[in-house]
Amino acid sequence: MSPKSAVNITDDQPQQVKTNLLGFSASRLGDFMEGIGEKRFRATQVIKWIHQMGECDLHEMSNLSKDLRAKLAEVAEVKLPEVVSCQDSVDGTRKWLIRVDGGSCIEMVYIPERDRGTLCVSSQIGCALDCSFCATGKQGFNRDLTAAEIIGQLWIAANSFEQFAPKAKRRVTNVVMMGMGEPLMNFDNVVDAMSIMLEDNAYGLSKRRVTLSTAGVVPQLDKLGDVSDVSLAISLHAPNDELRNQLVPINRKYPLAQFIESAKNYIEKMPDNRRKVTVEYTLMDQINDRSVHARELAVLLKDLPCKVNLIPFNAFPGSDYKRVTNTALDRFRDILMAEGYTVTVRTTRGDDIAAACGQLAGEVNDRTKRQARYKKRLSEVQTLNITD
Ligand code: SAH
Repeated sequence: MSPKSAVNITDDQPQQVKTNLLGFSASRLGDFMEGIGEKRFRATQVIKWIHQMGECDLHEMSNLSKDLRAKLAEVAEVKLPEVVSCQDSVDGTRKWLIRVDGGSCIEMVYIPERDRGTLCVSSQIGCALDCSFCATGKQGFNRDLTAAEIIGQLWIAANSFEQFAPKAKRRVTNVVMMGMGEPLMNFDNVVDAMSIMLEDNAYGLSKRRVTLSTAGVVPQLDKLGDVSDVSLAISLHAPNDELRNQLVPINRKYPLAQFIESAKNYIEKMPDNRRKVTVEYTLMDQINDRSVHARELAVLLKDLPCKVNLIPFNAFPGSDYKRVTNTALDRFRDILMAEGYTVTVRTTRGDDIAAACGQLAGEVNDRTKRQARYKKRLSEVQTLNITD
């Protein structure tokens, strides 16, 4: 064997991949500790260090013995996704661009309000569902985020606000899984990450303040109630299958009746029976904003304990739709309210930094052909506009 090939062989030895503890829920970290011959309660100490004290260096976890720290550091690490940039809107909304392994970037948004601070978290790189009015869908799809990459978003926001300092000016009090991706298509990782959000020794958020939003992956929604009791939001956007098939293609697989039934079952499994599903309805001019749609929606939802959240459509480059007019929005809301529904209108936040609902796009290394098609169409539209 020549010396050169000997060197190559050494170079090719696989580097020992360390286990990333960032995305480990309390029970998984307990299993991990047992697996390396340690007591389960060590997991509680490590979780507090990572998530409450923001400490990612295992050697600095000073209430663990030096030996244990060294032993842990040999096999494990705490690895965060990388923050590429952070933009602040005039209205206080903050958007981060975050690079994950493989080079794609996801976006995450923080929305401060008088009584709360909501973090909108991504669950996938891009999205496979391709809803016709959503910018993320146009980016195509790359992969699911790991549990570490999902909870890493909360870690990044919490640390930028000194979440656990007694006098923190800003804090994350609520998390909505409404960023890029369809959370129920990444079931296990999303469930693990949400359990860290709720974990007392980590972020300790209330289950009412963590919301999973889904476009209707019914089999997974049927399973969710067995492993989680977070709040549920369902993205309807249309009161009948014919229209919803066009806007939300997954409706062709799991039509409205099945979706609503599944959401009802989820909420009924909850031990406290005062909880309600949030129905999200993005209003687009002349598409789904007529009185007849509002009346149809009122009938459709009559047996579902719910409140309705109307979202004026947010435009993005090349989008096919227009924002609802204020007159149509008020009319739609009034019809639902007259039928006895609680209705809120989502105010558009962070529009100046493209951080509003449906505008999150990141930089997706697309594995589908969708992004290329979208870009081609976009350039055609732009050329048309210039020639106009
Ligand atoms: N896939 C999940 C979560 C991501 S979308 C879901 O569909 O629920 C979060 C919310 O933003 C959804 O209700 C979605 O329909 C809405 N949304 C998407 N694009 C939008 C746009 N351009 N304007 C306003 N809301 C939009």
